[in-house]
Amino acid sequence: MSKYEVVPVPEALAIVRSATPVLGTETVPTAEADGRVLAEDLTSAEDVPPFRASTVDGFAIIAGDGLQPRRVTDEIMAGVANRPTIGPGTAARIMTGAPVPPGADAVVMIEYTHVDDGQLTLDRRAREGENVRPIGIDITAGAPVLERGTIIGIAEVGILMTLGIAQVACYRRPLVGVLSTGDELVEPWEPVPAGAIRDSNRYALMAAVREAGALPMSLGTVKDDRELQTQRVREGVAQVDVLLTSGGVSVGDRDFIKLALEEIGKVHFGRIAFRPGLPLTFAQIGHKLAFGLPGNPVSSLVTFEVFVRPTLRVLQGDPQPDRARVEVELAHEIRRGGDRLEYHRVIVSFEGGRLVARSTGLQISSRLLSMSGHNGLAIVETGDGLLPAGTRIPAILTGPIQGLA
Ligand code: AMP
Ligand code: MG
Repeated sequence: MSKYEVVPVPEALAIVRSATPVLGTETVPTAEADGRVLAEDLTSAEDVPPFRASTVDGFAIIAGDGLQPRRVTDEIMAGVANRPTIGPGTAARIMTGAPVPPGADAVVMIEYTHVDDGQLTLDRRAREGENVRPIGIDITAGAPVLERGTIIGIAEVGILMTLGIAQVACYRRPLVGVLSTGDELVEPWEPVPAGAIRDSNRYALMAAVREAGALPMSLGTVKDDRELQTQRVREGVAQVDVLLTSGGVSVGDRDFIKLALEEIGKVHFGRIAFRPGLPLTFAQIGHKLAFGLPGNPVSSLVTFEVFVRPTLRVLQGDPQPDRARVEVELAHEIRRGGDRLEYHRVIVSFEGGRLVARSTGLQISSRLLSMSGHNGLAIVETGDGLLPAGTRIPAILTGPIQGLA
């Protein structure tokens, strides 16, 4: 029997959330900042564009001069400065992105022009402002551009570079140590003696850590020995922000992780009403966090997804740390979760205006294939019997939805 009471999932999530701080900040080159969370409010010091810029290749003119022929007096390439003024009866050849010269108030596309012996004629009248990007139309000097908490994506890298902001303050990415426990484990590339298995969890968990925007660090494997595990957990915690262990949290004679965590820190819970992953354990060691994940490969990854991933997002300052939650319609019947809330791996697709969920098949917690290709975790209520096809239940989206082509 376990001495740990079984904590309901919402309560366990709340306990983890309230123990999770936001890490400090660091300065990061913008060129490497995609995926990071911005830790400062940024205001533009400049107008974009900083000069009136032509949006087409053509001729800079005075629109009010109508269709009268004009003498072409200049040729303006992108990147040049300080051109002479365009006056009545004159025009300048101009390229896309080049500064519209003083005096000119429109650019006529080359397609609507003819030049003969230095004389420009227009096929149609130009409107004042036509094909001219006014100063500050894209970004105005002094205006707020990006807020603290923004996740720096592709567009944000471009915006920052446009403004010459080549370094930004970002929240630190959590360093996450991953330690596998088990006498049976060998490295995946080693020969596998009778009774041994390959340590897949450490590598899958490190990939999950990376996907969450954090920095994984392998802490290797440790045998099922109480002293050894306590020592390795202690050493591990000292090097990282978050420690993840795999295995050794059940009630077997050789499951020592809970004891190790109790010895060096405070264990907040040691069992949860969750499937797959009843023995998930959560502890605080000083201001560091530790999760004792179950050894079964599916259990370790699903408990990671539901409990660890949002934690890693909070730590790195993400104001929206949780995955999108949607309502899905079951494509077929699913058994209720019994005495635990079940996070059933599903494939969610958009069909006939609805989000439809299909199970990835046999959900036993050793079958990693039940996670391959899944893009959702359907949350199946407790109780007995079947939820019929068509039942609408909540789901967490873990990946892109298949939709209309
Ligand atoms: P445990 O939680 O230590 O009782 O392990 C539960 C099951 O998961 C056992 O079948 C283990 O062999 C398996 N397991 C434990 N650790 C790993 C690992 N690192 N990689 C793959 N399977 C594991
Ligand atoms: Mg074990």
